[in-house]
Amino acid sequence: MQVTESSHPTRWWTELDDGRIRCDVCPRACALHEGQRGLCFVRKRDGDRIVLTTYGRSSGFCVDPIEKKPLNHFLPGTSVLSFGTAGCNLACRFCQNWDISKSREIDTLADQASPEAIADAAERLGCRSIAFTYNDPVIFLEYAIDVADACRERGIRSVAVTAGYINEGPRAEFYRHMDAANVDLKAFTDDFYHRVCAGGLAPVLETLEYLKHETAVWFEITNLLIPGLNDSEAEVDAMTRWVVEHLGPDVPMHFTAFHPDWKLRDRPPTPPATLRRARRIAVANGVRHAYTGNIVDPEGQSTRCAGCGRVVVGRDGYSITSWNLDAQGRCTSCGAVCGGVFEEAPGAWGPRRLPVRLGR
Ligand code: SF4
Repeated sequence: MQVTESSHPTRWWTELDDGRIRCDVCPRACALHEGQRGLCFVRKRDGDRIVLTTYGRSSGFCVDPIEKKPLNHFLPGTSVLSFGTAGCNLACRFCQNWDISKSREIDTLADQASPEAIADAAERLGCRSIAFTYNDPVIFLEYAIDVADACRERGIRSVAVTAGYINEGPRAEFYRHMDAANVDLKAFTDDFYHRVCAGGLAPVLETLEYLKHETAVWFEITNLLIPGLNDSEAEVDAMTRWVVEHLGPDVPMHFTAFHPDWKLRDRPPTPPATLRRARRIAVANGVRHAYTGNIVDPEGQSTRCAGCGRVVVGRDGYSITSWNLDAQGRCTSCGAVCGGVFEEAPGAWGPRRLPVRLGR
């Protein structure tokens, strides 16, 4: 299928004295000559402006359980319509979606879909939310915002799955339109961000503090543990102490398993024991809801009441096995409130994954 790129206007850029135009969306600050693209590949200098070349294009749609994003405290058990575009503003050597994030081929974007068509599809498929995922929505924020607005008109919520590597102005604009986020905190050292992701840690921490203190967006954190690179007890200890001190005890954390991929194939998969150890460290440091991910671990994936310790949401993989919360998210045993967005009963989507084609 032949797909031509779009030329959607953007507003976050600055003309420089040397004739280049700097993109101000993320800390990468790409300064572009005529016709050049930024590192993300999808934002491009076009005359006296920077345009988004992937507006209205998607690399595919899929209905997933919301727990797969992962979000354990946001409408548990419901389905989410997931989609992504192409490109990324980080260059993680371990990328698990590199065919999308590193795409230099616009024909990777097989589906064409207007914001209204996506919102209609989410409604028709019974999805409670839509997720911008597979690659980082920061780089296609104009498209993501228009999709989120179309969804909000239909009562469908929007979820950003992101690395949080974004500048202050676009960050505020972007999150005004989001209801929930999962932020990937890739490590807790600047060295890792520089060497493995070609990025930096500080902007990500700023995004987390911004979400906590200046928005009502529900968010959870994912930390992918890679053997020998970011999985030391000391690093997990420092990270989880920072989370509790700066974000409080109620932001859920997901410690997930690495699988060798893209340019990082010389490391083994993460042993389950490493994930369980990280979870124990988090809980010891005051994180109320710490989870393991990408392994079979019903105990590590269930939600316990912070008040009485009872399992309030039992899980086995992406299936919900028990439910002891009321519509306000209170434990039905002791009444303690569990942070998150809950309803009287969980959704019944289960672990299914349903690929969907739009706009052919
Ligand atoms: S969004 Fe893309 S073009 Fe803009 S600064 Fe970041 S990597 Fe560069």
